[in-house]
Amino acid sequence: MTPFERLGLEESLLSAISDLGFESPSEVQEKAIPILLEDETDLVALAQTGTGKTAAFGFPLLQKIDAQSRTTQGLILSPTRELCLQITNEMQLYSKYEKGVNIVAIYGGASITEQAKLIKRGAQIVVATPGRMKDMIRRGIVDITKIEYCILDEADEMLNMGFYEDIKDILSNTPDDKSTWLFSATMPREVASIAKKFMHQPKEITVGSKNAGAVTVQHEYYTVGGRDRYAALKRLADANPGIFSVVFCRTKRDTQKIAEKLIEDGYNAGALHGDLSQNQRDLAMNAFRKKQIQLLVATDVAARGIDVDDITHVINYQLPDEIETYTHRSGRTGRAGKSGISMVIVTRSELRKIKAIEKKIQQEFIEKKIPTGIEICEIQLYHLASKIRDTDINTEIDSYLPAIYDVLNGLDRDEIIKKMVSVEFTRFFNYYSKTRDLDNQKSSGKERNQGEIPKDGSVRYFINVGERDGFDWMSLKDFLRDQLGLEKEDIYKVDTKDSFSFFNTDSNFTPLILETFQDFKIDGRFINVEVSKNPGRSGKGKKRERRRGGRRDQGNANSFDKRKKSSGRRKKGRNPGFF
Ligand code: ADP
Ligand code: MG
Repeated sequence: MTPFERLGLEESLLSAISDLGFESPSEVQEKAIPILLEDETDLVALAQTGTGKTAAFGFPLLQKIDAQSRTTQGLILSPTRELCLQITNEMQLYSKYEKGVNIVAIYGGASITEQAKLIKRGAQIVVATPGRMKDMIRRGIVDITKIEYCILDEADEMLNMGFYEDIKDILSNTPDDKSTWLFSATMPREVASIAKKFMHQPKEITVGSKNAGAVTVQHEYYTVGGRDRYAALKRLADANPGIFSVVFCRTKRDTQKIAEKLIEDGYNAGALHGDLSQNQRDLAMNAFRKKQIQLLVATDVAARGIDVDDITHVINYQLPDEIETYTHRSGRTGRAGKSGISMVIVTRSELRKIKAIEKKIQQEFIEKKIPTGIEICEIQLYHLASKIRDTDINTEIDSYLPAIYDVLNGLDRDEIIKKMVSVEFTRFFNYYSKTRDLDNQKSSGKERNQGEIPKDGSVRYFINVGERDGFDWMSLKDFLRDQLGLEKEDIYKVDTKDSFSFFNTDSNFTPLILETFQDFKIDGRFINVEVSKNPGRSGKGKKRERRRGGRRDQGNANSFDKRKKSSGRRKKGRNPGFF
């Protein structure tokens, strides 16, 4: 008996499994499949991404449905279109020896009529995203009133994405006596409440410890100044020449921006986020699968469930808002028994988040330093040399060799090697010889922090950009958050004037803010931030100004009118809206 046979799976599925090359069940499959085959029961299964959950519900579902009947018997809800397609593809492979099984994917952003046509032909299993599902129920295109099995895949993510109401709606169209199988990587409160509300005495299985990250993943963090994030990202990529990575950003805008910058800087990069058309997303995913894209910059939502096995690094360009999300991100690497690295670029103010994540994943982070320019040059040099050594010789060049020898005539072996390596190396060298160190461990800000910055209270700042620069309070808040890597609630009382603005943070962020905006330039224009002499907060403000002295005192002592003029002058001739 094969290990899969022992779980009770039927012949046709076993043949498909052997075609797929699965030798033995994963832990979640081993635990879930027998339960689901034997009983009509509700089930809550918690297992990390990459542990084979699709097969854990897919095989039992296929075995249980009646392929002779055209009634829709199984509904699988999953958070994203990509995931929906992935599950559908996978299930089609599982069912390749089962006659008459139709599995149809329905998801937003594609023709509803096409999908309706497929449903009409009779789909025993429907795989859907909640939004489109609801839409199709409302239009009477799909009938789920007779389903026997409802699977909530990546339940935590669906709830994260705000699908609670949709799911509730959809479930209200299903029979009470169906079985509900919930699969999730983590068990936040919302998921527990779904289980409680919509499930009857579910059996529970957990693979690994709850919320734990896969142990094959090493977690690292790199502390940098807020405005060095992008430079740090480049260095991490350059220091890992064979990198094949998903780079996570927090917003669609950042995702697009970072991908564009990387492409501009000569990297094989691409963007994946919800503002792209389906076609663009498919192109990006295909290019990534084929490794034509080395750095896929993605939002959490778009990257959810991406099933690409060889990802070497996950880079957290910014940390996610929710700690839970981090587990999903890092779960993109270290799959299929391979090891992977999850790197986090953080500012000092975010270090507390690292602690919180460590608690969650029950694994420690390794504190690393952004490699120096010299280190990167070295790595690239050796990489290049081994690449030359390992390259298969292309015999097509034979006929050109005499001419090439002619060109290289007079150079000895040493010189040829040096020149050959220089061809590629000089690009890195030229870039890195001009850059400074990014490591932010012992930056001046920390020293400044000692004794100068009040330990508590709120600090108000002046910044020399305002509505004329295209900011309103919300976009300025976003801009500041992005630059500083802070949370929404960390920046408050944002007040934009014509050519300057004010905002507040708690005083513990003051060193970070002053440091970030020291010599801060965008498109050649200096952005400065200074602690404001706000009349409303005179006590604190005055004391701080006196202490700091020098340069800043001057600025603060003067009226903003002067500033307004000067910033207006600087602005002239500038391309508006360059942010
Ligand atoms: P999850 O949903 O838990 O994130 P998937 O179901 O997407 O994981 O599976 C991850 C990968 O592992 C897929 O490529 C899948 O084909 C593969 N896989 C699943 N089960 C097995 C198995 N028993 N043996 C080998 N590979 C498997
Ligand atoms: Mg899955």
